[in-house]
Amino acid sequence: MAGINTVIQEKSISPELQSVLVEELQKIVGKDCVSVQEIDRLATCRDFWPMTSIWFMEGRYPAVPDIIVWPHNTEEVSAIMKLANEKGVPVTPYGEGSGTLGGAIALRGGIVLDMKLMNKVKNLDEQNQMVTVEPGLNGALYEEYLNRHGYTGGHFPQSMRCSSVGGWLACRAAGQFSTRYGKIEDMIVSLEAVLADGSVIRGRDVPRTSTGPRLDHLMVGSEGTLGIITEATLTVWPYPEKRAMSSFAFDTMDKGLEAIRQMMRTGARPAVVRLYDYVETSYHFPEAEEAEDRCMLVLLVEGNEKIVDAESEICDSLAREHGGVDCGEEPVKHWLERRFNVSLASKMFRQGAVLDTIEVTSNWHNAFEIYKKMQEAMIAIDGVALASGHYSHVYPEGACLYITTMGTPSDDNKTEFYKRIWDAAMDACMSLGGAMSHHHGVGLHRGQWMDKEHGAALEALRSVKKALDPQGIINPGKLGMEEAKEWPK
Ligand SMILES: Cc1cc2nc3c(=O)[nH]c(=O)nc-3n(C[C@H](O)[C@H](O)[C@H](O)COP(=O)(O)OP(=O)(O)OC[C@H]3O[C@@H](n4cnc5c(N)ncnc54)[C@H](O)[C@@H]3O)c2cc1C
Repeated sequence: MAGINTVIQEKSISPELQSVLVEELQKIVGKDCVSVQEIDRLATCRDFWPMTSIWFMEGRYPAVPDIIVWPHNTEEVSAIMKLANEKGVPVTPYGEGSGTLGGAIALRGGIVLDMKLMNKVKNLDEQNQMVTVEPGLNGALYEEYLNRHGYTGGHFPQSMRCSSVGGWLACRAAGQFSTRYGKIEDMIVSLEAVLADGSVIRGRDVPRTSTGPRLDHLMVGSEGTLGIITEATLTVWPYPEKRAMSSFAFDTMDKGLEAIRQMMRTGARPAVVRLYDYVETSYHFPEAEEAEDRCMLVLLVEGNEKIVDAESEICDSLAREHGGVDCGEEPVKHWLERRFNVSLASKMFRQGAVLDTIEVTSNWHNAFEIYKKMQEAMIAIDGVALASGHYSHVYPEGACLYITTMGTPSDDNKTEFYKRIWDAAMDACMSLGGAMSHHHGVGLHRGQWMDKEHGAALEALRSVKKALDPQGIINPGKLGMEEAKEWPK
């Protein structure tokens, strides 16, 4: 694109092919739903990967697609994929662009399939407690629809106002209430997807099957590299009768972790369990005097009234037994009010700093050590001012650790600075046996560590991709499906 300075764009299609495709695509979706205008192409040239913010602040664009298409239904997606497959043109699905690792960037140009017009609720099946929706439905609108009908979807990622149901499934997302309702893979009943050759697969809307591996479930977490998700059926829950909130301050993180571990052993499943380190406690809960120089644990239990009473009694007693100082309901109310506030990142980038969040998974035996080692490794980098953390999404087997890091490089080379921080964080986590991602996924950036994460399984996974998409046209270069490349400075 004339005058557009792209950073990681590997290819674009020729102007001749672009014109042929536009004509064919217009026949499929209508004239208004195909665009080659600069404004539309730039709107989908990035996602929320902080590296793209760094490049943007320098006046550079990650990679610009050649054509944007807004399909209305599965038949259109199927026809688009048939056409793209015939011409060997890359297709990148795009939800709402809130992914944090570059997954939705059209690295090799081609077509971006923007799913936002496929945003309908198709059926609420109250008897079987399921809802069927299109993938472009916005997360907050999904939950609002369910609430109006007396239900909750139980899925509350911090990005729910700027992400789609299809994006949640593609990234194997986890919401803030995951300990009670599960992560997206626990909520999905079945889905429909269009494969690279245009064929459509649809799983059965039954609670379970024993009929071989489920191809529809394989799409969950595939980040748009195996197929385009065009419909999903998810479990829903009656809107909770009761909510109980409590919070406790612990002298140390490991004491708080042990209290949580014991809660999980009892079978109690609070919806929200979040344990903040000293730094994050002082930042998020400055008004809680008892929490000064301590680590705050926030608990929220909801659902059926009798179960809520029993679970909150169990969890609160265990928190006290393990030295937790009762801080009451107020900190939880404060957290609920601010939980979707994500303004810090844009403020910091405008001020010239680099900010990112890195979420990993630990077991209980290494949870505290991974936190300490990651923090030490990141803080040791010249220019890093912050590497604070909290645990959330807890399980009987372990928990997710979420680190927020911020700083400014002394030599102003933000790309190198960013790489150094991630190298240090991933090395520290993986050398102690942690998994490199809990819910943000892999996208473009984490592809370089996929062999370390999966070992021999990565080649097998790549073979699955090859079998489903022999020409490699669906979201190429993502999820470690190809050898990782160095990106420019
Ligand atoms: C401030 C902030 C907070 C966040 N908090 C959370 C959180 O709490 N929990 C969490 O899990 N994540 C969180 N995220 C990450 C992100 O919001 C999620 O990964 C989300 O699921 C992405 O949805 P999206 O619609 O924006 O997808 P996009 O960013 O548009 O796409 C993400 C990936 O999915 C693919 N994709 C999109 N739609 C489809 C489809 N229909 N079929 C196939 N592939 C598709 C894309 O090609 C891409 O690879 C956060 C991000 C931000 C910026």
